[in-house]
Amino acid sequence: MRVAMISEHASPLAALGGVDAGGQNTHVAALAAELAGQGHEVRVYTRRDDPGTPERVTVRGFEVVHVPAGPPSVLPKDDLLPHMGAFAEWMAADWRATGLPDVAHAHFWMSGLAAVTASRACGVPVVQTYHALGTVKRRHQGAADTSPAHRTAYERQLGRVVDRVIVQCRDEEHELASMGVPRERTSLVPSGVDATRFRPDGPAAPRGERPRILTVGRLVERKGYAELIRALASVPDAELVIAGGPARDRLMADPYARRLHELARAAGVSGRVRLTGAIAPAEMPRWYRSADVLAAAPWYEPFGLTPLEAMACGVPVVATAVGGLTDTVVDRVTGELVPPRDPGALAAALRRLLGDDVRRISYGAAALDRARSVYGWPAIAARIADVYASVARVREAVA
Ligand code: UDP
Repeated sequence: MRVAMISEHASPLAALGGVDAGGQNTHVAALAAELAGQGHEVRVYTRRDDPGTPERVTVRGFEVVHVPAGPPSVLPKDDLLPHMGAFAEWMAADWRATGLPDVAHAHFWMSGLAAVTASRACGVPVVQTYHALGTVKRRHQGAADTSPAHRTAYERQLGRVVDRVIVQCRDEEHELASMGVPRERTSLVPSGVDATRFRPDGPAAPRGERPRILTVGRLVERKGYAELIRALASVPDAELVIAGGPARDRLMADPYARRLHELARAAGVSGRVRLTGAIAPAEMPRWYRSADVLAAAPWYEPFGLTPLEAMACGVPVVATAVGGLTDTVVDRVTGELVPPRDPGALAAALRRLLGDDVRRISYGAAALDRARSVYGWPAIAARIADVYASVARVREAVA
């Protein structure tokens, strides 16, 4: 099939090129590469945010198209909405010039708006993956949420007009149903993990004698690093490695990184907390392999790739029971689930695991098995391609 993917703010090149990348970049890059490997023709449309970038770049068998919409500079995601009309118009013209795709798969709600607008002009079916929902963000972040007004209304409307919504976990399915998106419009296909890169064997990052708790992600409050630092005070001897955030040499310019250092001092654990700054994606497997346990303590998490990546490296996970983590982590089988924002519960689970080799090893083995058997990219991408084929068939039948 000919597939157009739209990922307005999250370029797959960020995940492949070793610069700052989050979950959506990783997901789009891996899905596009896997679909290309399975014989599909894949083009990913992302906003041009650097004047020096070529319009088209081919990487790992798929093409990345940089769409001129808005200034060619990095803009905050929450400022992109006004440029989605220009994005859609340019993309529709490109589709007409280069051949219409069989399906457009939009990642994040603003990509959905661009995809639906372009598809109206050209009659291309649209599949939507939200990656995150405004209702959930607002619930947890309140006034700190800087999303454009009406995000939730757009998301609800998108759910009703696109040909299919791919949800990534059961929690998202319930959330959409309560927003009024009919369940029969949704298909549940989780994100995947590259089990050829994330695997137990291979080099590990250096470490000392202390048991290592690793946590990975962008340095934002909702990822629960403060709770982990507080928990560490009740987990004797262990070290907490926080991987992610700005590049190492810019780390201490980050106010949140400074706050975490301060918190560690106040909790009496500063000698046992280490912030690494951004780790290049290619280096991530080494860090997971160096850990005794992966901790993921977000207040909320739409899907959460890092626990899955750790599991694929045979590392057990202690996670908060939120969002996608309640699907990936099987409590007391591949790790342990604890309530969010509860340092005491985190500490108890971490102590239990670090103090019990048999439990840790058996969770790690089950985690590896689950990551490989349920979340490997070849199978996940094939399920997504099935969704594409079904919407393309329906369109053909009504045309
Ligand atoms: N990641 C990375 N380097 C870092 C921190 C994170 O490559 O320093 C990657 C990580 O391996 C994962 C993604 O960024 O693939 C984070 O995805 P997740 O779903 O956990 O969080 P999100 O960024 O979507 O909130």
